[in-house]
Amino acid sequence: MTAHSNIRTSRRLSSISYSLRGPLAAEAERMRASGERVLALNLGDPAAHGLAPAPEVVRAVGEQLDRSCGYSTAQGLPVAREAVARHYRAKGLTTVRPCDVYLGNGVSELAALTLHALLDPRDQVLVPAPDYPMWTASTVLAGGEPVHYRCDEASAWYPDPADIARRVTDRTRALLVISPNNPTGAVWPPEILDGIADVARRHRLVLLADEIYADFLYDNVPHTPMASRAPDVPCVTFGGLSKRGRIPGYRVGWLVLTGCRDRGGDFIAALDTLGSLRLCPNVPAQRAVETALGIADTTRLTGPGGELSERRDLACRLLGDIPGVRVVKPRGAFYVFPRVDRERYRVGDDECLAGDLLHEERLFVVPGSGLGPVPPGHLRMVTLPPAEILTEAVTRLSRFLDRRRTSRRL
Ligand code: PLP
Repeated sequence: MTAHSNIRTSRRLSSISYSLRGPLAAEAERMRASGERVLALNLGDPAAHGLAPAPEVVRAVGEQLDRSCGYSTAQGLPVAREAVARHYRAKGLTTVRPCDVYLGNGVSELAALTLHALLDPRDQVLVPAPDYPMWTASTVLAGGEPVHYRCDEASAWYPDPADIARRVTDRTRALLVISPNNPTGAVWPPEILDGIADVARRHRLVLLADEIYADFLYDNVPHTPMASRAPDVPCVTFGGLSKRGRIPGYRVGWLVLTGCRDRGGDFIAALDTLGSLRLCPNVPAQRAVETALGIADTTRLTGPGGELSERRDLACRLLGDIPGVRVVKPRGAFYVFPRVDRERYRVGDDECLAGDLLHEERLFVVPGSGLGPVPPGHLRMVTLPPAEILTEAVTRLSRFLDRRRTSRRL
């Protein structure tokens, strides 16, 4: 063994995993490279499923490339920050000014930045379960401790603010809200958000509101920004163009500060320091912001008869037709999170179920266990693909489960 074959790595990484792109993704890629037709329903990338961005958004970037070669200010281009501030003022957050907006290379970068700004070793962050696993991983990487609170499948996947309150300790610093939710598609109603605001207010917690799916709503369900229910509580709202603009590859997102005027001094200074350390966000991508926020083309996809609402309906109907598979109809985002009855089917744990599905049926979905502590038997599938792909994916799942029926064994 050479000296370099055994490089010691950071202990912080030992508990980190990212199920959306973990070993199963590598295996799916290997299978695809060897010519197998894998149906990949693991990533929420609209572009990968043929949902192209609005041409004017791409053009806005292309036309300004020659003006985008230098660094921007660390907080982002003034024109982009003004557009984001306007967007949130129109949503009712009337106090938002451009100086409250920080642009970044996607919500992922800004989440890490925020958590690093907030946390000391072992400080705790309340994180929903299930969650989008970037939040759990980023909390650990920032030296903190994620404490998961339960979203209840029997209550439309809503959390219970009383349950959240019981998990607060003297080390809790922040409370994360993801609505519309990935993976459940739940859109948390104002009364739940009020309860959450109250927990944050009573325990002096910072609210983190990941609202990247705010524009993906079905059945006329309104979206209530977390910050609008807690104007007096420090709140960091996250959004971006990966979903709304359908340009995740450009890497552009933002955070918006509200309720921070009195209590935000050190925190804002920390954000400024960390933002400056990475110099600036990708400048060409920031050119997309004003144009993308000026068009509201997601309602065309999510309204009645829209491509995404039809695909959601189809996925739910097909999954619901499989005996022993239950799914709570998502009201937002573009995922379904069905549960397989483990009494009826011999499927092993979630990792095993997803691995067997990949190997036996060439269907790549995310195991529920990769999305935080949730009851076993869940899988996450994107509902972005066209009808024929969704139909084939559910057919493969159904065929797989048919082979695993416990009654066959008896
Ligand atoms: N937050 C949630 C809830 C997501 O589902 C995703 C991506 O799927 C992200 C954040 C990442 O966003 P970005 O591409 O802006 O880093």
